Amino acid sequence: MAEKWNKHLREKFGENAELIGSEFHEHAAAALLESETRFRTLIETVPDGIISIDSKGTVEMYNQAAEHLFGYGKDEVLGHNINMLMPEPYHSQHDTYLSNYLSTGIKKIIGIGREVIGKRKNGTTFPMYLSIGEMQVGERRMFTGIMHDLTELKQAQDHILLLNQKLEQYVRDLERSNHELQQFAYAASHDLKEPLRMVSTYCQILEEDYGDELDDDAKEYIGFAVDGAHRMQSLIDGLLEYSRVGTHKNPIADTDCEKVLEQVLLNLHISIKESAAEITKDPFPTVQADEKQLNQVFQNLIGNALKYRHEESPRIHLSVQKTEQDWQFGVHDNGIGIDPKHVERIFIIFQRLHPKNEYPGTGIGLAICKKIIERHGGRIWVESNPPRGTIFYFTLPIQTAAVNSES
Ligand code: ADP
Repeated sequence: MAEKWNKHLREKFGENAELIGSEFHEHAAAALLESETRFRTLIETVPDGIISIDSKGTVEMYNQAAEHLFGYGKDEVLGHNINMLMPEPYHSQHDTYLSNYLSTGIKKIIGIGREVIGKRKNGTTFPMYLSIGEMQVGERRMFTGIMHDLTELKQAQDHILLLNQKLEQYVRDLERSNHELQQFAYAASHDLKEPLRMVSTYCQILEEDYGDELDDDAKEYIGFAVDGAHRMQSLIDGLLEYSRVGTHKNPIADTDCEKVLEQVLLNLHISIKESAAEITKDPFPTVQADEKQLNQVFQNLIGNALKYRHEESPRIHLSVQKTEQDWQFGVHDNGIGIDPKHVERIFIIFQRLHPKNEYPGTGIGLAICKKIIERHGGRIWVESNPPRGTIFYFTLPIQTAAVNSES
């Protein structure tokens, strides 16, 4: 090759050929040195391990990152078989694998890459991603592997897996305890009704049959007992209704809110007429909901707007707005309002802000609304400026694919 090149220079430059030739060699040598230095620096500074081996598996190049990965210095690995960096059974199989590949050409990892296990100097193992390229240098076949440590990634994956398992367990526990609680509330309230009916019935019989023999105090006491029994009856009815939100439900499907509202206003027409209420509304859409439960929500909210009013006739507006993910409904009234410090409390079962002789009720309506809306995947909240008016808002997701599948 060199002889051919010198002949070429002699033909082209005559007696100056030698001079030009040596100058050229100097430049070429300097350029080669620079390229070699660049290459070395690159190999030594990349964060992934790089190892080259010959066709027998003898290590010819081993960079700094590989030193960090495996814990061996260059002098301990260069010239040795690569299988020293592999745990069993790969350690014993590697030579056979390499010679099989060289004779058959069947690739298992070369040119493909996959996750493998590396073995450190201290005997510990670690996961790494290994990609291998093959090259021909003159007559020799060589293989270069790039190794990326997967230890942290694996740890993070294991951690996420563990968290997922825990989360699934929590969800299962929660579903079970929710179900048990619903069953309990249903059974308890159902079974309490019978003895209660006995108390009120026998108190009334007592009054009817022995009324003449009782003085006014005794009659008043019986009155208290009957009244208490009736109140307890309505609390139990409310509790039953509350527990039924989870047990007696219909599928969530297309529901025409105009139709629902028509029915609700019909149910409330006596209160509307008595209070001379003025009710206005936006055009209502068709939504994804359990029609019966949506009816219950509107009835409770509009019923409250009619009940918690000032002396003047109630003015109620029913609004609806479409956001990116939800329908947001609003029930606006001009009633007595709610002190902002109670805006959370009123959604808890049996929580009331007024004595029953001022405004009758059991404190269950809003708790039922909350449970229904949450079953639909929505939210309910209140904004109020006492003594003037309250707005109850609730949302229903536009898409409710997951909600029908809950227990
Ligand atoms: P109830 O009406 O039977 O008491 P709710 O759960 O429907 O039960 O309401 C809880 C409490 O929230 C009520 O006792 C009342 O104090 C307050 N409240 C509900 N709606 C309104 C409203 N529109 N205006 C003012 N207060 C309200």
